[in-house]
Amino acid sequence: MPEKLLFEKSVAGRKGYTLPKLDVPEQPIDEFIPSKFIRKNEAALPEISENEVVRHFVRLSNMNYHIDKGFYPLGSCTMKYNPKVNEVTSSMAGFTNLHPFSPEEFSQGALRLMYELGEYLKAISGMEGVTLQPAAGAQGEFTSLLMIRAYHNNKGKPRNIILVPDSAHGTNPASVTISGFKSVNVKSNIHGTIDIEDLKRNLNDDVAAIMITNPNTLGIFESDIVTIEKLVHEAGALMYMDGANLNALLNIVRPGDMGFDAVHINLHKTFSTPHGGGGPGAGPVAVSKRLEQFLPIPLITKTGNQYHLKNNGEKSIGRIHTFFGNFGMLVRAYTYIRMIGSEGLRDISENAIINANYLLSRLKNHFDVAYNETPMHEFVLSGEKQKNRGIRVMDIAKRLLDYGFHAPTTYFPLIVKEALMIEPTETETKETLDAFADALIKINGEITTNPELLLTAPQSTPVKRLDDTRGTKQLDACYKG
Ligand SMILES: *Cc1c(COP(=O)(O)O)cnc(C)c1O
Repeated sequence: MPEKLLFEKSVAGRKGYTLPKLDVPEQPIDEFIPSKFIRKNEAALPEISENEVVRHFVRLSNMNYHIDKGFYPLGSCTMKYNPKVNEVTSSMAGFTNLHPFSPEEFSQGALRLMYELGEYLKAISGMEGVTLQPAAGAQGEFTSLLMIRAYHNNKGKPRNIILVPDSAHGTNPASVTISGFKSVNVKSNIHGTIDIEDLKRNLNDDVAAIMITNPNTLGIFESDIVTIEKLVHEAGALMYMDGANLNALLNIVRPGDMGFDAVHINLHKTFSTPHGGGGPGAGPVAVSKRLEQFLPIPLITKTGNQYHLKNNGEKSIGRIHTFFGNFGMLVRAYTYIRMIGSEGLRDISENAIINANYLLSRLKNHFDVAYNETPMHEFVLSGEKQKNRGIRVMDIAKRLLDYGFHAPTTYFPLIVKEALMIEPTETETKETLDAFADALIKINGEITTNPELLLTAPQSTPVKRLDDTRGTKQLDACYKG
């Protein structure tokens, strides 16, 4: 590694702070802390000066790739630019110093913010109820599946199957399994949308719900959604929408109007809170009347000008996160929505769709297009042609790093061979989109002129090609001296 660990830079006795001389009598520590809680040995922390710590992290951030550095077209992730005003509001002392156990009368501001954010998400999704607790999209799916289970149990007829289209995000079948249901695949047709005949074959009175991503992970809108909704509800099952990514729909179409009973919304995608690298997220869930009584507790309610925490009764699935979820993420999303306004929300989606279609138009003569439909906010190319010339999509993705771009999503969705999934988002200029298209077209040319460049890419990054399977299976993030 070109940068040593802080532990490796440590020098005994070096300090990152200075304190004034003690001007009160020294007290033995065990007067304040029971002796069983007092450390026997010093904590093994690096000893290092303040400027070395600062330089270390600045150097790391320079080696890293992030949205403040450049274009990040990672499909299904919505890596849009995060306005800095969100950081100003989320670090306001009134929010950061508020204890989560503060009584209602001292936390009216925070409760109001959560209440209003909930109202905005209900309006955006066209739903009746909302919980802000889930910490991620996947936890939103899990929360919804628990509510769906409670709904069927409450009717006295438990159901066990969740239908999942074959283009679904991996978290969908994973959430189904972890919440104790069985997932059954529904096939896609030649247009990349749900095959209605296959759906009919799979619907029966043991199906609890179908999980649909719309637009789906190919970026294609499920144009048969009205028919699907009718079939599913007639079979007594519920409609779940994976709304991790609402970037194509804002103020254009609402999940509630399409007949969905629950939708999770990734604030850390559509609503601009930073993500990537596993930081905190927020995956609120909005629900239709059918599921309202099963929402997690507590709910945030309003009477007159006062905001309250309310237990919504015995049918609730209970709590799914400590306190109120990842509150800082809620402040960021609230700020973003207030800054943009409802007119602006529609602009976001229209620009996201135009950007994706512009980029596709620049690339479609050079790469195969997985499905020949007009996409929404993202699209999927296939590198089959390139594979036949001896270069995998992974090589192309790595080579893009040498051109200063983050790679698109690769090998997902699973139904596309050599998939390259591109989501530019609305926050990029035409110049950036052109520069990215130029780079991909140039790389496509390099397959003929200098394939070795691709096979050994990246050349210019601090670390070269990593074994990501081993990195996942043998994750070892602990320094052992
Ligand atoms: C990102 C994403 C998820 C999962 O969200 P997390 O916050 O990463 O758990 C689920 N479905 C789709 C379609 C996504 O893009």
